[in-house]
Amino acid sequence: MDKLNQVLLRADFRVGADLDAWLAREGGAGLARALENPEAIIAEIAEADLRGMGGAGFATHRKWTPVAAAPFGDKYIICNGNEDEPGTFKDRFLLEHTPHQVIEGALIAALATRANHVVLYVNPHQQLALAATRQAVQQWQAHTLFAAIEQTVGGTVSLGVVPSSGLYIGGEETAVIASVQGGFPFPRRKPPFPAEEGVHGAPTVVNNAETLAHVPGILRHGAQWYRDLGVGDAAGTKLYSLSGDVLHPGLYELPMGTSLESLVFEHGGGMLQGKQFKAVFTGGPSNTLLTKRDLDVPLDFDSVRQRHSRLGTGAMIVVSEGSSIVRKVAEYVSFFAQGSCGQCPPCKGGTFQLMQLLNRIDTGRGVRADMDALENLCRILPGSGRCGLIDGAVTVVESSVNQFRDEYEALLMT
Ligand code: SF4
Repeated sequence: MDKLNQVLLRADFRVGADLDAWLAREGGAGLARALENPEAIIAEIAEADLRGMGGAGFATHRKWTPVAAAPFGDKYIICNGNEDEPGTFKDRFLLEHTPHQVIEGALIAALATRANHVVLYVNPHQQLALAATRQAVQQWQAHTLFAAIEQTVGGTVSLGVVPSSGLYIGGEETAVIASVQGGFPFPRRKPPFPAEEGVHGAPTVVNNAETLAHVPGILRHGAQWYRDLGVGDAAGTKLYSLSGDVLHPGLYELPMGTSLESLVFEHGGGMLQGKQFKAVFTGGPSNTLLTKRDLDVPLDFDSVRQRHSRLGTGAMIVVSEGSSIVRKVAEYVSFFAQGSCGQCPPCKGGTFQLMQLLNRIDTGRGVRADMDALENLCRILPGSGRCGLIDGAVTVVESSVNQFRDEYEALLMT
């Protein structure tokens, strides 16, 4: 993809919190179209097949539709910029360099749903992103366009920034709601879904920052333009956070459906000198590993799911031959164990046990019984938590054992 065709990362869009500069560069054109015909926004987003870029790939219009249909009253749009999982660094870039693009997307979502509260929920550890978002919000509040938004929504619209807890679990959809209400970010079971019962019981949309950043372009150029940016049936572009043993790690905006091979070897410059590709932790380290035989997989939500993994956030952590999969899995499970909120005993205890077993095996102190215990935990833990953290931890352990059992076996004491 030609860099000039980038949608989110265009160099001239990186104007920081300068609203006038944003509006001088096509910014506001999507919002203007949305103001002309707010009733048509959701159909345009549906036609564009915009997916949730925070992990699940859920169709965005399906979150917006029930909130738009809810009776007039308090409604919330929350832009989720908590981003805290290893290997993902896209939302902080957007909020730091082009916050108006994200905010314009959130305001268009408010027009589509007639929401009177718009919240930018930002990780306070990402201080530059938080500062840029705060400045950008102040500029929107003072701009005449904001009055036009309020007129269309039909009343006062609050637009503000809420720093998140900075905890990994604080990015889970229901934890976001708890946090915005002022509480500890404890996830809860769904249903009820946020569209039915969100912030203070009001209908609520929680969208990832990247998802909202795509919205102004769709409104500006139309759904077909957006669909045509993708490869095959996949629509639009995607931000891929590429890291690990590659020559050029970084943030890449590419057509949705770009192959893993193209991302790693063409755009990422290939493996670090002398190293061979072994595997990729995809979408944050809570999914099934992709290996050499998956290099041809198009990196879109549906294609990656067909390989029994998930695109997730679009993070790709590349591992080379000679690097220990067991060690990396031990590190990631340790991250999950520390990130568990502790509400569900099987999650708190289970992730801790997984971490201990993995550390023992990784450091050459493991025995056959540890391997059996590890696999047994992978059988009994899934589904035992209120949110997906425990399932994510189990998935990466199970996948690594299934695909790299020889590495585990070689580390066991005989
Ligand atoms: Fe908290 Fe884990 Fe339960 Fe999720 S599964 S709510 S992180 S204890």
